[in-house]
Amino acid sequence: MDSIIIQERLVEKLLSPRTQAQRSHPGKLKDHEKQYVGFATLPNQVHRKSVKKGFDFTLMVAGESGLGKSTLVNSLFLTDLYKDRKLLNAEERINQTVEIVKHTVDIEEKGVKLKLTIVDTPGFGDAVNNTECWKPITDYIDQQFEQYFRDESGLNRKNIQDNRVHCCLYFISPFGHGLRPVDVEFMKALHEKVNIVPLIAKADCLIPSEIRKLKERIREEIDKFGIKVYQFPECDSDEDEEFKQQDRELKESAPFAVIGSNTVVEAKGQRVRGRLYPWGIVEVENQAHCDFVKLRNMLIRTHMHDLKDVTCDVHYENYRAQCIQQMTSKLTQDNRIESPIPILPLPTPDTETEKLIKMKDEEVR
Ligand code: GDP
Repeated sequence: MDSIIIQERLVEKLLSPRTQAQRSHPGKLKDHEKQYVGFATLPNQVHRKSVKKGFDFTLMVAGESGLGKSTLVNSLFLTDLYKDRKLLNAEERINQTVEIVKHTVDIEEKGVKLKLTIVDTPGFGDAVNNTECWKPITDYIDQQFEQYFRDESGLNRKNIQDNRVHCCLYFISPFGHGLRPVDVEFMKALHEKVNIVPLIAKADCLIPSEIRKLKERIREEIDKFGIKVYQFPECDSDEDEEFKQQDRELKESAPFAVIGSNTVVEAKGQRVRGRLYPWGIVEVENQAHCDFVKLRNMLIRTHMHDLKDVTCDVHYENYRAQCIQQMTSKLTQDNRIESPIPILPLPTPDTETEKLIKMKDEEVR
């Protein structure tokens, strides 16, 4: 008898349409709350589950050595990801091949865990002959897609580790007059596989008018060569005006001109991350000095999820469709030669059935 009462109470509890607010203030249901079925709590359920599971994000950095890639990554995530990096001298760089190096850190902020993987590509663009130097990078991205495809088709789909590259920060030299041939080739080889975010490195080497000109030039060349860099999604019409303004500024600032620094200097009585020059200080986080804050906000605060979605829904889907197409065409080819599965002829209707179909046709007419 007791167990029946307990079970009834349990069912009642499970069916009760409590809102999140009521969970913390249990009591009688208000009249308007009686109307709720309870699915309004779904976002909270998803939120709790995601926070518990944690997040992961894989960021690739590419561009020739010395453009400040490691300094920028450290400035972005305030960690030292390159503790054991070996620097090569000029002679060693001549024959260096492109390597892929992965650094992973677990960072936590207000109880939210993020597993951040940085994929570095030392040696890219450094050799005298840079023909196809992007090949190891495209191969790496494809390998991650392949691994994911295999895991997805395997038995243990619950614990798949997602190592797909969600974004690639591509560093462009501030000393050129736009894109170099290797930049164009790199971006064209990768734009169908990964979200490319082009950056103008070491922006403190240029004056504001030079930055504007270089940005203009790069935008034109991106258009001219048909390069598809990451497109920021359209802002929702119901967003507030401040957010819309920020979104407009973000889109207008691309390609972001960035400055990195691992040192903290004193400016106007405040300690800031920046670079000290005889003529003054460039502050990394000052929006009048560079686009570092815009890049960080975009990457971490506003667009990280979209970058992951585009990777999954566009780039990975393309790879998957190609794979399936190749597998099917191979299967049909093999079938033609020596089919392990007998291909049965389609059944043709016998004369009785044909007569019946004709009769039915007449009836319908
Ligand atoms: P990486 O080889 O691309 O990873 O470049 P590093 O991060 O090792 O930086 C190479 C050199 O450039 C170091 O001496 C940095 O201090 C310097 N550096 C990094 N970022 C900047 C920047 O934004 N402006 C200037 N002027 N120098 C920078």
